[in-house]
Amino acid sequence: MRKVGLAGWIEKDKPVAGPFDAIVEPLALAPCTSDIHTVYEGAMGEKTDLILGHEAVGRVVEVGSEVKYIQPGDRVVVPAITPEWRSVEIQNGVPAQHSEGMLTGWKFSNIKDGVFAEFFHVNDADMNLAKMPDTITLEQAAMMPDMMTTGFHGAELADVQYGASVAVIGIGPVGLMAVAASALRGAGRIYAVGSRPRCVELAMEYGATDSINYRKGDIVEQIIAANKGEVDHVIVAGGNEDVMQQAVKMLKPGGTIGNINYFGTNEIIPIPRLAWGSGMAHKTIRGGLCPGGRGRMERMIALVVNGRVDPSKMVTHTFKGLEGVETGLELMRNKPAEVIKPVVLV
Ligand code: NDP
Ligand code: ZN
Repeated sequence: MRKVGLAGWIEKDKPVAGPFDAIVEPLALAPCTSDIHTVYEGAMGEKTDLILGHEAVGRVVEVGSEVKYIQPGDRVVVPAITPEWRSVEIQNGVPAQHSEGMLTGWKFSNIKDGVFAEFFHVNDADMNLAKMPDTITLEQAAMMPDMMTTGFHGAELADVQYGASVAVIGIGPVGLMAVAASALRGAGRIYAVGSRPRCVELAMEYGATDSINYRKGDIVEQIIAANKGEVDHVIVAGGNEDVMQQAVKMLKPGGTIGNINYFGTNEIIPIPRLAWGSGMAHKTIRGGLCPGGRGRMERMIALVVNGRVDPSKMVTHTFKGLEGVETGLELMRNKPAEVIKPVVLV
């Protein structure tokens, strides 16, 4: 990211590892919708000469003197969120939010250089890097740092219960993983809201029971009609600030909304007063950054190793070599209908 609106290549010095850190070279990288929000929409404010990218699988080339578990040569899944596990904020239970300010557990391509580079720096390597088993593919592993962990967090935030009805608004890769997570948590009925046929098809494969097209009428009406009433949980994984109003309207009193969408525009996200029971309907709205860290990645790995979910079904495009990042980013920017997620095999 040269500045808001401009992406390009830049030469920088190779990063240096502190005592707890690692230097990693990428094996697989994935451009993300969030990279597009950051560079082309300025969603995180102006940034100049910042390396983009936060989704990577890599090989460790160097570790600091205090790193014990991770060794040079290890193949690792690198979470998009790499908290400082020795900071006091960890004790508040929200490791993604840090002393340096809100959202600063998200370091790559936010407060330091990201992973679209020949080498990148990982803080607190033993606590953030998960070893990648040989039994999974690079494509599967590349879906874990953000898409899987974020989609699954949507189901956690919405507190999806077995037998419950769930609406997942947005079925790009993040929403698709929220569908899969809701199915794994035992939801009874899952409404997948999107329009692109390829995403709809995959949502059904991941466990959705109904597909709802937001281009073909009001989704609140469509979902309430199909469900014969409001739903127990809503996961917001796409759309603009108006989707929050729809989420509140389609939610049962006592229900919970889990937002994982990145609202990149508008100062205000409106909440409809009456549908929110004038503030008294016990309709809970939660929102969070994808959790990172090694333990979380090891659980993502366990889901794939044990055949619970195959996130590589979302990979629609594969590019070779670091230069493939440029093509992948352009693809995400233009997002033709057949794209779900590109992966760059470095
Ligand atoms: P995509 O752009 O691939 O998917 C967005 C989805 O939302 C599509 O299914 C799209 O439908 C649907 N959609 C668009 N407009 C509407 C609307 N008005 N009503 C209902 N549905 C709509 O995005 P990703 O899956 O890659 O990411 C989703 C969001 O999550 C992004 O904002 C991203 O920045 C954010 N994100 C958040 C993270 C976090 O930690 N909280 C981490 C990573 C990403 P279709 O295209 O089929 O028409
Ligand atoms: Zn991402």
